[in-house]
Amino acid sequence: MNTKDFAIRKIAFAPLMGESPKGGWTNEIRPEDSVHTLIAVHTESGIIGYGSVFTNGGLVEAALKLLEPLYLGENALEPERVTEKLHQNTFWMGRGGTLTHTISGIDIALWDLLGKALDQPVARLLGGVYRRRAMPYCSVLMEEPGLMRDVAADAKGQGFHALKIGWGPFGRRDDSKLDEAIVKAARAGFGDDTKLFVDAGGSDAFWPQGLRWAIRTAQMLADYNVGWFEEPLRPDALEDFIELRRQSPVPIAGGEVLTRRQAFTTWLTRGAFDIVQPDATKVGGISEQRRIAWMAEEFGIRYIGHGWNTAIGVAADLQISAAMPHTDIVEFIGGSAYVDGLLTTPFKLDADGYLEIPMAPGIGVTLDPEKVARYSPSAASLFAA
Ligand SMILES: [Mg+2]
Repeated sequence: MNTKDFAIRKIAFAPLMGESPKGGWTNEIRPEDSVHTLIAVHTESGIIGYGSVFTNGGLVEAALKLLEPLYLGENALEPERVTEKLHQNTFWMGRGGTLTHTISGIDIALWDLLGKALDQPVARLLGGVYRRRAMPYCSVLMEEPGLMRDVAADAKGQGFHALKIGWGPFGRRDDSKLDEAIVKAARAGFGDDTKLFVDAGGSDAFWPQGLRWAIRTAQMLADYNVGWFEEPLRPDALEDFIELRRQSPVPIAGGEVLTRRQAFTTWLTRGAFDIVQPDATKVGGISEQRRIAWMAEEFGIRYIGHGWNTAIGVAADLQISAAMPHTDIVEFIGGSAYVDGLLTTPFKLDADGYLEIPMAPGIGVTLDPEKVARYSPSAASLFAA
């Protein structure tokens, strides 16, 4: 192999629009909003690597322009070094924000490219394959109890064995009876013999609840055999997370809004989480995610990825889950066109409710240009040589 052929020639991007799913946010996402953007790293070899960024296409465009002098001509076969170069040289320009999110997509694309160049799945390049399948948990928004039961039953009907309900009215109406009724309805609709998780969505704008609510609510969730309680507090309330974890009968999860591995150190060393959920499409990519996951491992904290937002994000999460000893579950948004509608071979649950982890080269999935074009006016630039 001539490594000169793998000099980065250009990085293209394509914002996804038209079917953006609701996030449960106070300022709700509209279908036409761009909040996820695909990235393609092009090299002289003709091999293209694909990544995904959790942010708006205009922000990705601006970030790529700023980063271009740093990545043009770089060796695409060295993801961790090239990504670190981008991080280290952007300390004044908004590290941790749009730049870090965009670097995340570049990093995922570089790993994809390296895998394709070496004819190996990324999981093997990350050190080895602990598992060949992972359980996707279907992530849905909370609804009023009647509808919640139907939504949960529908997820079960689709073959999911794990369900997460989040955001919506939960914790936002100061009505603990309503909160409990929602969880009860989801449990009834999804069944007793299944995994059920609850996500308060405390990173939403002006999250109103504090530690006492979180402790009381955690006790209620234990009655419904809830597997974890996610983001029950404001995302920067470190001391309250530590205290909640000491008192809660159910595991405490969080970390989806943190970016850069350095931001996780305090949360992991102080024991703020039972489960840490970095998002590969914004935290710094696979390189950063792997390091956070292994740091968590040393502290007995479970790593579960949050890259659910596009098919490329899910594919990256599956590769990392294969390469981690205790990550047999991945987040999977129910009914999103950006997950179900972009690949030549869509993800498919097996009879036990698992996804097979693709062992094809790179992140193991193939974007379908015609399908991507349905959701992005600049889709063609991703695939053009
Ligand atoms: Mg969440």
